[in-house]
Amino acid sequence: MSSIPPVIAIHGGAGTISAATLAPDAARGYHEALHAITLAAQRLLLSGGSALDATCLAVEMLEDCPLFNAGHGAVFTHEETHELDAAVMDGADLRAGAVAGLSHVRRPVRAARAVMEDGAHVLLAGAGAEAFARERGLEMVEPAYFSTDARRAQLHRVRDAGRVALDHDAAALAFNFQREQAPLDEDRKMGTVGAVALDMHGHLAAATSTGGMTNKRVGRVGDSPLIGAGTYADDRTAAVSCTGSGEMFIRVAAAYDVCARMRYANQSLAEACDAVVMHSLPAIGGNGGLIAVDRQGHLSLAFNTEGMYRAHARGAEAPVTAIHR
Ligand code: ASP
Repeated sequence: MSSIPPVIAIHGGAGTISAATLAPDAARGYHEALHAITLAAQRLLLSGGSALDATCLAVEMLEDCPLFNAGHGAVFTHEETHELDAAVMDGADLRAGAVAGLSHVRRPVRAARAVMEDGAHVLLAGAGAEAFARERGLEMVEPAYFSTDARRAQLHRVRDAGRVALDHDAAALAFNFQREQAPLDEDRKMGTVGAVALDMHGHLAAATSTGGMTNKRVGRVGDSPLIGAGTYADDRTAAVSCTGSGEMFIRVAAAYDVCARMRYANQSLAEACDAVVMHSLPAIGGNGGLIAVDRQGHLSLAFNTEGMYRAHARGAEAPVTAIHR
């Protein structure tokens, strides 16, 4: 077994998370959840587990966690429905799987992984993706499973204002916040979640799962399930999982651009992530961030918003969690 210390990083969405409105108790819950999930993935990696298994485990836990669940509590579309997207990529052999527009699969990342393992296709959408998940024996739920009152109230506020909002955009979340009196943790929970990892064997992987953006048009697909936009992994360079205004991440091929800058322009991971997050994305109005790990174990958790729910652990060191800058 090689001596590479494994690395795991996770995110639970980026946005204008206002320090002023984030109650101390809510912040503690986020830190505890991020810590516990990172620890579980770290243990798997330390026992020799693969980066692919570690990222899928972390994203499943994020999907299941009431604070970050990209399933239960997912944002609503304009039509008050849910459409969930997810992707996974194995840097060892560039295998990838993704699903878009799911409304009955409890853990979309499992469906993405099943698509990858099946190998015939990379991206399945809508009814066909759900039929595939059902065939594979994945847990199915009624769409109401994903709904929460807080998310419905959020949709109504955002829809009334005629906007499409990032899940963690405080401008949307705090809008009429007092009048609604929605608990902060309820109103802020769920969003795009993701994980990247380097395992002891030198392999990289990335996984991402999301409910998308509040008030999105039915049928809209964001960056998360698009390989190269919201998710990418290549052992020669890095593993990347993004969160933010998906349309802009698609337009700059954000996750792939990080890897391409490293491979073709010899940029370091930090330089490549900085170029994408601080320059390419803002140049077209893109908000958000990404987490990335390279083959040497360097990490970048970059964002151009006020905050990003994030955590990482290197080797056997204690996980580090953060929300704001
Ligand atoms: N990137 C996601 C999307 O556009 C949203 C998010 O990161 O919260 O679907």
